[in-house]
Amino acid sequence: MKEQPPRAATHLESMDRATGETIGRFECTTAGELGRVMEHARSAQRDWARLGAAQRAKRLESLASVMLARAREIAEVVARETGKPLGEALLSDVLVSLDSVRWHERHAASLLAPRRLAHHNPVFKGKRGWVEREPYGVVAVIAPWNYPLAIPMTTIAAALVAGNAVILKPSELVPWCGALVGELFDQAGLPVDLVQVIQGPGELGRALIEAGPDKVSFTGSVATGRLVAEACARRLIPSVLELGGKDAMIVLSDADLDAASSGAVWGGMTNCGQACLSVERIYVEPGVAGRFTELCVEKTKKLRLGSGLDPETDVGPMIHERQIERVERQLADAVKRGARVLTGGKRRRDLGPMFFEPTVISGVEPEMLLMQEETFGPVLAIAPAADAEEAVRLANETPFGLGASVWTADRRRGESLARQLCCGSVMINDVVSCYGIAEAPHGGRGASGWGRTHGESGVEEMVQVKYVDRDVFPRGTKPWWFPYDRGVVELAEGMLAALFGARAAERWRGLRNAWRSYRARRK
Ligand code: NAD
Repeated sequence: MKEQPPRAATHLESMDRATGETIGRFECTTAGELGRVMEHARSAQRDWARLGAAQRAKRLESLASVMLARAREIAEVVARETGKPLGEALLSDVLVSLDSVRWHERHAASLLAPRRLAHHNPVFKGKRGWVEREPYGVVAVIAPWNYPLAIPMTTIAAALVAGNAVILKPSELVPWCGALVGELFDQAGLPVDLVQVIQGPGELGRALIEAGPDKVSFTGSVATGRLVAEACARRLIPSVLELGGKDAMIVLSDADLDAASSGAVWGGMTNCGQACLSVERIYVEPGVAGRFTELCVEKTKKLRLGSGLDPETDVGPMIHERQIERVERQLADAVKRGARVLTGGKRRRDLGPMFFEPTVISGVEPEMLLMQEETFGPVLAIAPAADAEEAVRLANETPFGLGASVWTADRRRGESLARQLCCGSVMINDVVSCYGIAEAPHGGRGASGWGRTHGESGVEEMVQVKYVDRDVFPRGTKPWWFPYDRGVVELAEGMLAALFGARAAERWRGLRNAWRSYRARRK
């Protein structure tokens, strides 16, 4: 008998990560429905673009009010579906989203206004030129599970103020959060079909690109990012790729060790270590490595694991079995090659199916998987570095290039090291929180992707630049037009001398010749 192809899933199940219990079911969009979804998006976008940037930005005001009114309820859904603590959900998802929406509301009109270009070449003084920013049309936003509100909201806010419609494909791991995003736009009274949410597995993301959006903004793993880049390249669809990271933290001997260790523990364990900007590698100068490590271990041991809904929980469960297996595999490899687990390192099935102990491991070396692959789990890996220069070299020895941090009391040294780090953002004496700065460009280099979200750069990603030029002498012909003759050659030589001649006399002679030739050709 002929083997039947596997049937596509018809529903996604929403899970409470702390208990493993199913808390909701969401109908999947089929690939066959995407043509209609795209048509609706195109039709909504035409009217939306006509409103103009100021009006579009104003329409976002109601979105902020709706989010604020439902903040606690949204955070509870985020906490249950992702496992992150409620306070984190309120800060890193709700607050970051609200702040981004407000920032776009306030700045969109000025960022998107036509910008006059002053022509530097006197030949073009008879022209008026300006740059307009026009929407792409339909932007496909393909989102990961880990900040299920903040990531799509930041990108969607930029896409909308720029005049685009959006089709959001949330992660299949957080369908309830994805549905909530759509609901918030509906409730805020934004035009029907301007933001549509489609639910389904990764295959639906692939089909969405096939359906031909005008731009793709993808956030997720490097492996999926590659597939998205290939699919976009085949159709010449421009893309933003926000991919994984392997962020280094460099601790210099003059750093405040109490602050640095607290920063490391928070930066490595927030969202159970499943943040793109997580502290994944720590390089410490030898004089303070012992004390810094002790403080990290002490503070990690005090972290309380539990359900995200309990306000006393510091660290919740991980998202998925395969994510836990990856952490276990990397730790086992590191231990086999001589690293030492100082605390944690084990699953905690007694707490629930997806709990893993916050872990500190020292003596890690560059060739270990733990230092090469993204870990994306609650692990602080501390490595020796002879000095700051070696720390920078090691930090840069990775295909990733998302973020990094430098810890020092010396402002100049911190800024100098920040300049030497090859990545999209560097924080001096802080970690991770740059994602919450609405105006700060966010994005990576190398394997961490391309393009930017947030701030002016994020808005620029959502527009196509058009140059418009008006000639102030509409009747005249131009001296460089056809027919070509000796006069054009003389004119060109005169212009070259007039514009670029080394000496004043040469420039004057060139100007005179060019003018004569111009007059002769105009007769
Ligand atoms: P993932 O790559 O598994 O999935 C991301 C999204 O892509 C999901 O919606 C998924 O359904 C979809 N998808 C899967 N296959 C696809 C395909 N062939 N075509 C189109 N879409 C497809 O990532 P994840 O596990 O949800 O997220 C974790 C990863 O995201 C980590 O690597 C993390 O570092 C990264 N991340 C990066 C940033 C950043 O800003 N750089 C932010 C958050 C997360």
